[in-house]
Amino acid sequence: MTNISMQTGITDELAPELGVTQWIDASGHPLATFGLDKMPGAFKVIYCFQDANAACHLTGFPAMASLVDAFRGSSYVSFAAVQTVFENFASNNYERMVAAQRRYALPIVFGHDAGEGREGAGSVLMQRYQNGGTPWFIIVDPDGMVIYNQFQIDVDRVVAGLKRAESAPPLTKPDPSILTWRGVLELTRDGNPPPHRRLELSDAEWRRRLNAEQYRVMRQAGTERAHSSAMCTLFGPGVYACGCCDTDLFDASSKFDSKSGWPSFTQTLAPGLVAYHADRSHGMTRVETTCNVCDAHLGHVFPDGPKPSGLRFCMNGASLRKR
Ligand SMILES: [Zn+2]
Repeated sequence: MTNISMQTGITDELAPELGVTQWIDASGHPLATFGLDKMPGAFKVIYCFQDANAACHLTGFPAMASLVDAFRGSSYVSFAAVQTVFENFASNNYERMVAAQRRYALPIVFGHDAGEGREGAGSVLMQRYQNGGTPWFIIVDPDGMVIYNQFQIDVDRVVAGLKRAESAPPLTKPDPSILTWRGVLELTRDGNPPPHRRLELSDAEWRRRLNAEQYRVMRQAGTERAHSSAMCTLFGPGVYACGCCDTDLFDASSKFDSKSGWPSFTQTLAPGLVAYHADRSHGMTRVETTCNVCDAHLGHVFPDGPKPSGLRFCMNGASLRKR
């Protein structure tokens, strides 16, 4: 049976490459390679289907045809359709993908992705985007972030939103010196720059230098109780340094009242002071922050902070020292 799920796939993450190896161009001719980098639009819409799945023909293809129609003649949004096969491998084959392109006369690139061709090892795209089934729609924004990844799509709303974006004046280029969520995710994926110095001490030495709470938070990635730090309500000028190695990390001018119960900052003092790591504990994917000099656990960073960085460094007061 078709796995129809209302859950969403990955969102607010950098769009992974599609991982699809078989493509045909808008006229049905085989393409050697294709991928997100070859889609010219500011926004990219990818429709995932299986030809033997009735819902894909009842709702998915008509929705996709309306989206493509709405942007005919515009290069602002580009489209691709991929047969992401996870069941009925014999029916959902390459030929049926080619036939689907002809049947709907969709002037867009089509792909076929059956992975290794067996249950549990089907579509590579689905594994990367964590799709819940077919029909499925993915939208990637001009920053290369996945902003939509769901079973259903409200065509009128999506078209209205994209038309608004298309007619809006171009945004001023973001200041490249300000770290944003995209930059955080790239560091998480590609690795952090080497620090200007390193401090590595034995576990016994850290235990000697730190009190029990500091040791638990900074050396064992613990979290202090919400609202337990006096730093939450401290907004005077100064600098916040790492509680383990005294490296200056945040200026008080970047501190703001997040009301989260933990001291919060919008940016670090300089690049390379804080390191970023994917944290998949507690059933969530979050970004852990550590001191890049001594690896002290500081807290996490979230994409819901104030402009211009849009970041919220949610820190443990126990990890910081103010001066
Ligand atoms: Zn440190």
